[in-house]
Amino acid sequence: MSFPTTTNAIDFDSARLQRHGFAPQHSLVRPALDYEQLRRQLDLQLQTSLEADKILSMLFQSIQQLIPLNALNFKHLPTDLRLELGERARHNATYSMTHEGKQLGELSFQRDHRFAEHELEQLESLLSSLLYPLRNALLYRHASLSALRDPLTGAGNRIAMEQSLIREFEIARRQQQPLSVLMLDIDHFKGINDTHGHATGDEVLRAVTNAVKDRLRNIDQVFRFGGEEFLIVLTNTSRESAALVGERLRSAALQLSYPVTGRPLDLTVSLGCSTLLPGESSDSMLRRADTALYAAKRKGRNRLEMAG
Ligand code: GH3
Ligand code: MG
Ligand code: MG
Repeated sequence: MSFPTTTNAIDFDSARLQRHGFAPQHSLVRPALDYEQLRRQLDLQLQTSLEADKILSMLFQSIQQLIPLNALNFKHLPTDLRLELGERARHNATYSMTHEGKQLGELSFQRDHRFAEHELEQLESLLSSLLYPLRNALLYRHASLSALRDPLTGAGNRIAMEQSLIREFEIARRQQQPLSVLMLDIDHFKGINDTHGHATGDEVLRAVTNAVKDRLRNIDQVFRFGGEEFLIVLTNTSRESAALVGERLRSAALQLSYPVTGRPLDLTVSLGCSTLLPGESSDSMLRRADTALYAAKRKGRNRLEMAG
């Protein structure tokens, strides 16, 4: 069975609210707070954090003192934020929020019985307490993410790479999981710059990054290690599986075409792969991947070498 979902646009600037398709509902349990009290509480509470997930979690908890809810879902694609709180239910009140032309995400309340008209009116007015705290939290999140991302390719930068290696190393040790890395370097990249210009070189770097990301699991991570060299961190991945991923990336590069013209790129990449050994440091694992990459270059490029 499916239930219709209506998305309501809330433009905080024009304050014109639209709702459709909800039926009235008889009164439920007596609320713990009245509307005015809750409004004041939210105004104070929501500005105590700069983290979007904390703010939305406070909103979810607090609103339930007036309006029973089963779940709150939130999505903000520009900062890759997805949040699911509570247990899914079949009735939705969904709001697509904007402020000064900027997306503030899509917020959806769910519960297993229908929302009453007066509850929807209250929900919508309570959302105005969310506007500035959420906007500030999203700006903060965007700034934090930018600090960890390479601006040209969108891959993680060196700072993000260091942090990720520390984290992955800990997980691998504690949970006794395998951890593998691939060092990938574009072959004769200087030639692409020399022949087609630096701007095309930049496009190629972006295309390679996207091709790599497309062929990895969500939990794997790609970092720009240097100019045309990338480090791929493969969580919970054995030497054999890492070799398969490496081969997949190598053949993906062969199929790349120029972003604008669609002509084949004639591009190849070389890769070095290493898997964390018992008692080894993460630096040593990286060094072995780098040595394997050099071996791949020496042996003629367009190949994957496994570290010994
Ligand atoms: P090899 O097969 O041995 O790896 O040869 P290569 O030409 O790829 O390697 P080399 O280290 O000789 O040259 C790398 C080139 O990458 C030189 C540098 O100008 C270019 N490069 C580094 N960063 C960028 C960038 O951000 N954009 C562009 N377009 N080029 C870059
Ligand atoms: Mg190169
Ligand atoms: Mg290089």
